[in-house]
Amino acid sequence: RFISFEGIDGSGKSTQARLLAEALRARGEEVVLTREPGGSPGAEEIRRLVLEGDPDRWSAETEILLFTAARRDHLEKTIRPALARGATVITDRFADSTRMYQGISRGDLSATVDQLHALMIGVEPDLTFLIDLPAEVGLSRAQTRAGVEMRFEEMGLTMQERMRAGFLALAQAPRFRVIDGTGSQAEIAAEILSHL
Ligand code: C5P
Repeated sequence: RFISFEGIDGSGKSTQARLLAEALRARGEEVVLTREPGGSPGAEEIRRLVLEGDPDRWSAETEILLFTAARRDHLEKTIRPALARGATVITDRFADSTRMYQGISRGDLSATVDQLHALMIGVEPDLTFLIDLPAEVGLSRAQTRAGVEMRFEEMGLTMQERMRAGFLALAQAPRFRVIDGTGSQAEIAAEILSHL
């Protein structure tokens, strides 16, 4: 079983991915908890290339290629082997994040993103939890976090709001469950578990 968590920055998806992994492990399931960009040694190296240093280092197109390369490595080295041995894979972000971040935030590159996905990735999760909340809530949460990964929050509120709307549009697909991200951690975790 392949499960992804998606949402705008500061939505709490990383926390919820971890809580779900803990809950399923407590039931005796083997769970591989992973994340993007990253999730395999090669993809973690690509993560550093895209998230650290000068934000203008890569063109929008090169960035799509790098994220796709990272996802391909993640799929080959981590996701597919885990699924093959019967583990549940829970990933904090997958291709839907690229549909939003690389697809709409630096001009409309959705067609390029979709073509590369079809060519190099080709799979979707069985189940995707979209943690939905107003962009200003996500942004203020994200800004209180420290570290090198904040480059994309520089996009600001308008872009986060566009991405929220974009995620909600993607969530029309049957594999999605839209979760209200404004509740308490425990409430959200319980709602997520109720879908499994
Ligand atoms: O999910 P996480 O906070 O680890 O993501 C790290 C950063 O990478 C975030 O600032 C997010 O906006 C950005 N990102 C991105 N494109 C993706 C996935 C994440 O720009 N496909």
